Amino acid sequence: MHKLGIMGGTFDPLHSAHLFMAEEARVAFNLDMVLFIPTGEPPHKYSYPVSDAEHRYAMTLLGTASNPAFKVSRIEIERSGPSYSVDTIRAIKETWGPGTDIYFIVGADEAFDLVKWHKAELLPDMARFIAVTRPGFNLPRLSTTLPPRFLAGVDVLPTLPLDISSTEIRRRVREGESIKYMVPEDIEAYIRKWGLYMEGKLE
Ligand code: ATP
Ligand code: MG
Repeated sequence: MHKLGIMGGTFDPLHSAHLFMAEEARVAFNLDMVLFIPTGEPPHKYSYPVSDAEHRYAMTLLGTASNPAFKVSRIEIERSGPSYSVDTIRAIKETWGPGTDIYFIVGADEAFDLVKWHKAELLPDMARFIAVTRPGFNLPRLSTTLPPRFLAGVDVLPTLPLDISSTEIRRRVREGESIKYMVPEDIEAYIRKWGLYMEGKLE
């Protein structure tokens, strides 16, 4: 195993754009595997009640099951307290060995915020970042926004823009609208089975 992609996220729920961007990155960078890592307790304060980590993990497993190159890690779920990507990347490197090159896949929204991540100054030496298109964010502008040290570690990958977010899916479920094809069928069934996103604030 030499080139390992990482897709970190709250995945509340995992949706088709997550799967699409991970596959695009896998193909473009010839990644051996993409590891999806659902967050445990989210590091940033969320203003909506994030679903139980076990629900988010289960949905991530369901959504990735049919792709032989996709796997899911419980590393952040099993760690108590907030998870920081620097700690996760370090732990993954220990598990997978020093010969593993890590490619952290992020949407354009996250890419602009890289410098604000916990212990951000350590990131460029630990992993490369693949920044993909996200509607509403000007991906080309990344190259004039990120400090040069960060930019050197970022590969920009323009992809087909898919304007899907977990926030929009939660809103639709809450308001009784269709989410068909925005999430894999199994995930929709799981959301209905457990009555996720039916109550409470949405954002
Ligand atoms: P929420 O609305 O709850 O924030 P989200 O759709 O942004 O959910 P996250 O779990 O926050 O999903 O995101 C995980 C990763 O996937 C992040 O790097 C984010 O930028 C990326 N991502 C999510 N949706 C898209 C999309 N439609 N296009 C490109 N990147 C995306
Ligand atoms: Mg998000």
